[in-house]
Amino acid sequence: MTRTNKKAECVVIGGGIIGVTIAYELLRQGRSVTLIDKDQPGKGCSYGNAGHFAAEQIFPMPSPSLIRTVPSMLLDPDSPLTLKASYFLSFIPWGLRFLWNCRQKLFDRGTDALKFLNKTALQDWTELLEDSGLQKYLTKKGTIEVFKTQKGRDSGLKSVPNFIKHDISVQILSAADLKEKIPAITDDQHGGLFFPHSGHSINPYGIVRDLHESFLKQGGKFLLEKVENIKMLSAEQSEIIFKTGSLIAKNIFICSGYESQKIIKMLGYIVPMTAERGYHVMLEKPNIPLEYALTYHERKFIITPMEQGIRLAGTVEFSHADDPPNYHRARMLVKFSKEILPNISQEGSEEWMGSRPTLPDYLPVLDKVDNVYFAFGHNHLGLTQAASTAKIMVRMMTEKTTSFLHIQQGLNIQQGRNPFRLGRF
Ligand SMILES: Cc1cc2nc3c(=O)[nH]c(=O)nc-3n(C[C@H](O)[C@H](O)[C@H](O)COP(=O)(O)OP(=O)(O)OC[C@H]3O[C@@H](n4cnc5c(N)ncnc54)[C@H](O)[C@@H]3O)c2cc1C
Repeated sequence: MTRTNKKAECVVIGGGIIGVTIAYELLRQGRSVTLIDKDQPGKGCSYGNAGHFAAEQIFPMPSPSLIRTVPSMLLDPDSPLTLKASYFLSFIPWGLRFLWNCRQKLFDRGTDALKFLNKTALQDWTELLEDSGLQKYLTKKGTIEVFKTQKGRDSGLKSVPNFIKHDISVQILSAADLKEKIPAITDDQHGGLFFPHSGHSINPYGIVRDLHESFLKQGGKFLLEKVENIKMLSAEQSEIIFKTGSLIAKNIFICSGYESQKIIKMLGYIVPMTAERGYHVMLEKPNIPLEYALTYHERKFIITPMEQGIRLAGTVEFSHADDPPNYHRARMLVKFSKEILPNISQEGSEEWMGSRPTLPDYLPVLDKVDNVYFAFGHNHLGLTQAASTAKIMVRMMTEKTTSFLHIQQGLNIQQGRNPFRLGRF
């Protein structure tokens, strides 16, 4: 079937959590919307995340203190961070930019940007899920960071003044407080931190799937197509080309996760994106009670109670996106979870790997050029920031302004062919 010259008002490319929420929000504002994905929505990185609405995570990964710990992390086989040897040379330009972003000035700027984005994250999600009747997917009980060791507690408590300085609610838990909230936790732990204004999802894939369903019921359109090319015909019209035809669009939203870099290249833009791969293990019969999403401070991964069981998710693996998954990274999470939840059972476990779309400053690209809107690069925080991102992008289109995006605007995107200009990102 050829669809050449069909016209559309708003076309969203990418049906992950970012694209689907933007498509839904545009529809809610009375726009006519077509969503395009090469697969069924929600099968990319958004499928298997840890489900943490991490409103408290306002500190970007590149930081002055991280520089000191990265070398030892890379040498430790059990570390939450790994860099595949065959990816090393390709990684250098991204890695240099990452180091550049560890400077205090850029860390502070990144903190302001994330604070701005996370501030209304839960409120925006609550509104969107109430509108779509999907409130069951958001649990607003708060989340907990667990300290297994005294050393972990000492380092974890150092962050408390910073959270307070930035108006993030946090409570310090003793070992007894923690045991009361998490009866299955080991006795030899050192308490933790409680973030009362964060939350978790009982099924992150379910949100994308059901929001997409609701979008279709309310008149949104979906095309199962791989976008092969885009041509900007004028400031108001672009042609989106796929195998079976093309579509002329008034407004295009590029939300294709890790693959956004390929899509924007079609328009002559480049962005320093890497596939920051992460893993999960879904324990279908965990046999322990758990009410809260936990972050295991020393091992740096998340343990989340979900509809299907308990999910262990996290780790960072820098590698070519299409390298085969190394499921050892997932299995080690089971071993580590037993250090704090000794009775957890690994029966019926499913393993999964996904590629986070990550830029070296750990900020997303939220920007526009003429009628093309960019919303990608949400790294570890795509679920958390999706509803707020959707609101921002819709305002960007309807109010024809980017000025309220004081920090992000234009930061991450660069026209031309020179990706090596340090300092720009
Ligand atoms: C292990 C792990 C744990 C995580 N935990 C959390 C967490 O607890 N909280 C949190 O906030 N975030 C978390 N994240 C991050 C979060 O999952 C991502 O930021 C988010 O899923 C990115 O969403 P996206 O829509 O940008 O990308 P994706 O979900 O990857 O969607 C992009 C879509 O674009 C489509 N696409 C690509 N190219 C084309 C093309 N040419 N034509 C048509 N379609 C195309 C793809 O098929 C895909 O469906 C985690 C990530 C991982 C890996």
